[in-house]
Amino acid sequence: MCSLCIRVCKELQGKSALEINNEGYISRKTIYSDTNSHIFECEDCGNCIAVCPTGALAPKWYTEEYAKMEEVRSIKTTCPYCGVGCQLELIVQNQQIIDVKPVKVLPNNGLLCVKGRFGYKFVNHPDRLKTPLIKKNGEFVEATWEEAFSLIIEKANQIKKQYGSQAFGGLSSAKCTNEENYLFQKLMRAGFGTNNIDHCARL
Ligand code: SF4
Ligand code: SF4
Repeated sequence: MCSLCIRVCKELQGKSALEINNEGYISRKTIYSDTNSHIFECEDCGNCIAVCPTGALAPKWYTEEYAKMEEVRSIKTTCPYCGVGCQLELIVQNQQIIDVKPVKVLPNNGLLCVKGRFGYKFVNHPDRLKTPLIKKNGEFVEATWEEAFSLIIEKANQIKKQYGSQAFGGLSSAKCTNEENYLFQKLMRAGFGTNNIDHCARL
């Protein structure tokens, strides 16, 4: 009942998705009852649980993941999702990210959006591709990086010889760093010989 969650939602997140119902001993924190207005809809940013000093609000997986606190460590880093560059701490246990917490410095000053706060499960997801796949006889099979690079060079040289440099186009990702995106455009321009280069963030 300290109301930090309600205040961060209303005053910093600009939402008002939480409120206190009733008065005195029976007062309880609850989700705002007027669901007709978008102003009151929760954005799943998690900033209310980040400020909770008691653990009354917590993600439901906390009870399992934090069971063995002795192996937990925290690593300060920058959110990779967009150019705002929010500062956060990765909570790591057994080489796996089990939580993300905002850091109280600029530019985010203790806040995160839903992507920075909860968008990390892909890192240890079993479906994630970790090795290159090459299609052989209609099936994708795992390959080494050397095999993949050799195939790319071989095919790229064939295409360049047959159709010229303008047959290539490169699309990079907002999830890469500025430096990686710089190197990628350099690869396309100086290596492949084309200015056909774009970036998903431009959309
Ligand atoms: S998750 Fe964000 S928008 Fe939803 S109640 Fe908490 S602070 Fe408000
Ligand atoms: S937390 Fe959200 S706003 Fe901040 S850098 Fe990540 S994606 Fe951008």
